[in-house]
Amino acid sequence: MSVQLFVPSFRVDECLLEIRECLEKGWTGSGFKTLQFEDAWKEYTGLPNAHFVSSNTVGLHLAFKILKDRHQWRDGDEVITTPLTFVSTNHAIVHTGLKPVFADVDDSLCLDPESILSNITERTRAVVFVGIGGNVGQYERVRQLCDGRGIKVILDAAHMAGTRLHGRHVCGDADATVFSFQAVKNLPTADSGMVCFKHEEDDVQARKLSWLGISKDTFARTMSHGAYKWMYDVEDVGFKYHGNSIMAAIGLVQLKYLDADNAYRHQLAKWYEARLGGHQHIGLIPMAEGCESSRHLFQIRIANRDEMILILNKHDIFPGVHYRDNTEYRMYREFSGLCPQAHAASSEILSLPMHMGVTRKDVHTISDIILQYAKA
Ligand SMILES: *Cc1c(COP(=O)(O)O)cnc(C)c1O
Repeated sequence: MSVQLFVPSFRVDECLLEIRECLEKGWTGSGFKTLQFEDAWKEYTGLPNAHFVSSNTVGLHLAFKILKDRHQWRDGDEVITTPLTFVSTNHAIVHTGLKPVFADVDDSLCLDPESILSNITERTRAVVFVGIGGNVGQYERVRQLCDGRGIKVILDAAHMAGTRLHGRHVCGDADATVFSFQAVKNLPTADSGMVCFKHEEDDVQARKLSWLGISKDTFARTMSHGAYKWMYDVEDVGFKYHGNSIMAAIGLVQLKYLDADNAYRHQLAKWYEARLGGHQHIGLIPMAEGCESSRHLFQIRIANRDEMILILNKHDIFPGVHYRDNTEYRMYREFSGLCPQAHAASSEILSLPMHMGVTRKDVHTISDIILQYAKA
């Protein structure tokens, strides 16, 4: 039997029942279940606003666009970002006409506050912080150094569904927090996400822009009465970014299991740590103080990473890498060489299988192979 890096687990019967409600009602689009899911997400996280969108990628784009317009940033203004992320994070900056400035990471693989400080210029408008694997890294210090300098913080929380810091969900103090419910994330749907703004006026703007700039959403119009039910205004050049009721139906079910699933991920991480911890050639990623991670990933660092992948593959075990240094990609190559820590990590990090189907025995098998072949 092969062991894959990620396999989503769906509560199939419950999901089908919830989807069935949409089909019977004849409402699969925005509204109905999307509103229920937004309410459930706010209730779960305690965040004041939540707008359900078709992916984290578009949520990030909305976040940059709305903050840029609200605060009158100019084209070419700078956003400090990380080279160790899925490329969505950095594309969203470029899509908005802003300039990515790559800062380096610390041992947690999240942005290093010292490196952020040394990259701040008078054109720095925002920092986008990625909580790699569900870890918050030095997020609190980053928040502090941005406060008082008027720098906005966007949290790419694609890995962070269920992460708490000091007992509270991430990260109500960010200007925007963006979650992913893509199929391999901790709360899997198929593709969807949630953009959670600190300020209500930004949430209102996100609802408008995610539906082409139209002033009244179709669900509200359909449910209303009167001769002008069909009438709406168009106030902005918006996008078609909103989520739909089928995805929200799956999300509503999966949310009920998120904490239990994350608890099992914790257990898997503990088993890995018990087996792999304290070995000379195997580095573990330190968890931030006070962070109860979603444990989206379990990552190690080893010098012979590429060789190890081939060895594991031969045993039908398929790990992953999160991530390749983004400045190695052709389109971000002009920024290469600026982040030595991220660059070094990028050739050593390995993400081990982490999902509900991985057993204790799998963890032992995988760990024992790694122990046998890890080299300096
Ligand atoms: C998955 C991921 C995204 C993109 O999420 P989608 O919902 O697939 O658009 C963005 N950033 C990070 C760090 C991710 O892991």
